[in-house]
Amino acid sequence: MDKKEILSKFSTDPERYYKVKLFENEGFMRKSCTTCKRFYWTIDENRVNCPDHSDDTYSFIGNPPTKKRFDYTQAWKEVESFFQKNGHTSVSRYPVVCRWRDDLYFTIASIVDFQRVMGSKVVFEFPANPLVVPQTSLRFKDLENVGVTGRHFSSFCMIGQHSIPNSQGYWKDECVNLDYRLVTEQFGVDKKEIVFVEDVWEGGGSFGSSLEFFVKGLELGNAVFTEFQGDLTNYRTLDQQIIDMGAGLERFAWITMGTPTAYDCCFGPITSNLIEQTGIDTNSELLVRYFTEIAKNFERFNDLSEVRKNAIKSAGLSNEQIDKIITPLEGIYLIIDHIRTLIFAISDGALPSNVGGGYNLRMMLRRIISTMDRLSLKFDINDMIDAQIDYLNDTYPELEETREDVKTIITIEADRYENSKFRMQKIVSKLNQKPTVDDLIRLYESDGVTPDYLKEMKVISDIPSTFYSKLSELHQSKKQKAQDQLSLEGLPETELLYYADDPKEFDAKVLKSFNQYVVLDRTSFYARGGGQEPDHGTIGGFDVVDVNKHGNIVLHELKGGAIKEGDTVSCIVDSQRRDDITKNHTSTHILNSSSRSVLGSWVWQHSAFKEEDHARLDITHHSALTDDEIVKIENLANSVVDKNMSVTIENFDRGTAEQKYGFKIYQGGIVPVKSVRIVSIEDFDTEACGGTHVKKTGEIKLVKITRTKRIQDGVVRIEFVSGDTALNYTKQHDVDLARESAELKDKAKLKEKRQEQKQELRERLPILVENITECKIGTNNVDEIVVDITEPGKPNFCSAMNDQYDEFFHISLGERLIEKDPLMVYCGIFEDGDRIRAIIYSGEQVGKDKKAGDIAKAVSEVLGGAGGGTQRFAQGGGKDKSKKNDAIEKAKTMVLGV
Ligand SMILES: [Zn+2]
Ligand SMILES: [Zn+2]
Repeated sequence: MDKKEILSKFSTDPERYYKVKLFENEGFMRKSCTTCKRFYWTIDENRVNCPDHSDDTYSFIGNPPTKKRFDYTQAWKEVESFFQKNGHTSVSRYPVVCRWRDDLYFTIASIVDFQRVMGSKVVFEFPANPLVVPQTSLRFKDLENVGVTGRHFSSFCMIGQHSIPNSQGYWKDECVNLDYRLVTEQFGVDKKEIVFVEDVWEGGGSFGSSLEFFVKGLELGNAVFTEFQGDLTNYRTLDQQIIDMGAGLERFAWITMGTPTAYDCCFGPITSNLIEQTGIDTNSELLVRYFTEIAKNFERFNDLSEVRKNAIKSAGLSNEQIDKIITPLEGIYLIIDHIRTLIFAISDGALPSNVGGGYNLRMMLRRIISTMDRLSLKFDINDMIDAQIDYLNDTYPELEETREDVKTIITIEADRYENSKFRMQKIVSKLNQKPTVDDLIRLYESDGVTPDYLKEMKVISDIPSTFYSKLSELHQSKKQKAQDQLSLEGLPETELLYYADDPKEFDAKVLKSFNQYVVLDRTSFYARGGGQEPDHGTIGGFDVVDVNKHGNIVLHELKGGAIKEGDTVSCIVDSQRRDDITKNHTSTHILNSSSRSVLGSWVWQHSAFKEEDHARLDITHHSALTDDEIVKIENLANSVVDKNMSVTIENFDRGTAEQKYGFKIYQGGIVPVKSVRIVSIEDFDTEACGGTHVKKTGEIKLVKITRTKRIQDGVVRIEFVSGDTALNYTKQHDVDLARESAELKDKAKLKEKRQEQKQELRERLPILVENITECKIGTNNVDEIVVDITEPGKPNFCSAMNDQYDEFFHISLGERLIEKDPLMVYCGIFEDGDRIRAIIYSGEQVGKDKKAGDIAKAVSEVLGGAGGGTQRFAQGGGKDKSKKNDAIEKAKTMVLGV
């Protein structure tokens, strides 16, 4: 359906779609813009154009139409108190990380707070009616405009005014009446200044009329009346009509302050502090002139650089004024805006990364740093975070809790960026032509090179206007769900016994049986879900190998046969397997909360898997875990096990559960049903979960982390075991440790023994040498040292190859022997690891044909290696341990010639 078609249809019947009581009471006239023909309502007789085409457009800059001035915080107090005194409940903002919708990463509007998707239908759940909410909303499509246009933000506070027309709520008349009074009475704008423009809204199969309200060309809000469903030829009134009035708090503050930009009044004293730090000469007359032109030109040109060029021309700015005033101001505005968005997003548990929603956060931090570098701005990011949280405290006191966590994450991320700069420089230096938008996207996607960095490096002068919107489209999350191919139509929901008495043996009726699948009227077999693996066991004597849920019908997969429809079969669940999985599952909850309390508030369950003998939990965290962190997480988890805490399960209405426990309950993802099953481990952990859990944490006995690994940017995997598997794991681990330490002990003992032997030898060596050389003639054996003493004047030979002797011994003995007996040749052979080594000494008078070097060479050859040295001393060796005797014989033959 085309919005234009709806609008033209509705505009033909303004009495029905647009005329509210207020218009009649106050004498509003319906007019058509002389330029664009759009219809609008005003009490100003002289007005001839719609707000977009009037001369007074943005004339509030430098000349606010209110007597009172309200900054951002004060503006909310005004709005809140107005709606409260008119019967509204003021609701706290919802997280900006939209965990209750799987089609959105971030909360983009206040109405999203109350939308829950069930199947293909969106249902509304209001905690009060009517209500008002200061909803921080994140939008990344207009990033290029932020800081430049004076009114675009990456996050803004949407004043959400919502009502369901029933006995408590109201419909169009009261809504428009309230909005009119808010602007005129509470904010003091002259009645003549407010203009309501006719418009329409459509989305998700429903549509309705809407009235945008403007003051001095600035759109303050838009009251949408979601009223119909169907198409234009055939539509009917919705059962659940909704008023969705969204207004920009930033704009309410801006119109009362009349500052050159909305950035000047929406960050409290922070903007002016930063400007002061840089010493920019802020000529307010010049800024009023320039930003009024920017605002007017914005609607006229599609390309932002055209808007800027024309504004500069119309405002008559010199190049120097642009460089010295406008450009640095734009940088400052961008920096404060982006930091505020990062604070909200990180506080609510999002992490900068290269995937999903984290993507935009990384981009924004890199823009902040690049902008500071490009403009040589030396702001302290931590100081800016502190200043923002201090300023936001009145409206958003919850940010205080995560103040330090936000700083931690931003510091880590900023360091990462600094560290990647060298690599980025290299990539940029290889660019040989001006990159296209697609090049820019590729450069960022694959190399992390931001266009702001390229601007900083002067590779490009402007960031193409389509870059951010293209990028943001690329990273829209649209989960595709697999379609059921099985024909289970007409079957009733399976009665889930595992949520009731959970019998491990039960009888059930076979409702359907096809191929290897069977559907029963009731089952105690847990169907795969929430990362928990299915139960095994038998149905009618056949093994159950898989169990899955299709809608509310449980499908069992059997092995080895089929059973007859209509039969009653007996079923047995493998209770050992179930118990082990259950312990691992409950341990997942414990480890998740333990990780959050050890690491930081940004830790959320990313995904989980629980099998019988092992499990894993993936958490969101910026870095790999250190050994110290792992120990702390494990210890905390086991202290919860030791305390034997009670695990309780309660069912709540979803809205009640969210209000009572907050959105942390959605660790395992969104819950697509109205009733939420809340699993609490006393006050340690509370999650919405459909799995099986122990009754007391003590049943788990032990949780043991076996391995951790950073599996993607911002996600760390914790592999673990629990229960008897963990006990066995540690037992085995202890055995391994004991063995290792025994081996170490043996080695130490051996070393000690060697030391003793060495000492002993040192003392005995002179006697030994004496004994060896004094065996006058013949073959002797002294301490397992074989000695051949021949006739005087002929060479003598001595060898040793007992294992108790080492290098030190052979060298000491050989040296002393040839000193004492110059006709002596000594050959020592010993094992050194997997090698055999030989040490040879030849006495001075032995002769040139019996050089130690030659003997070592020959001996080594026998041993399968190589060796050599001088006439007096040589060494060598080989690997063949079976040749030790042969080697000695070889040496002996060479010396004695036998
Ligand atoms: Zn117009
Ligand atoms: Zn659970």
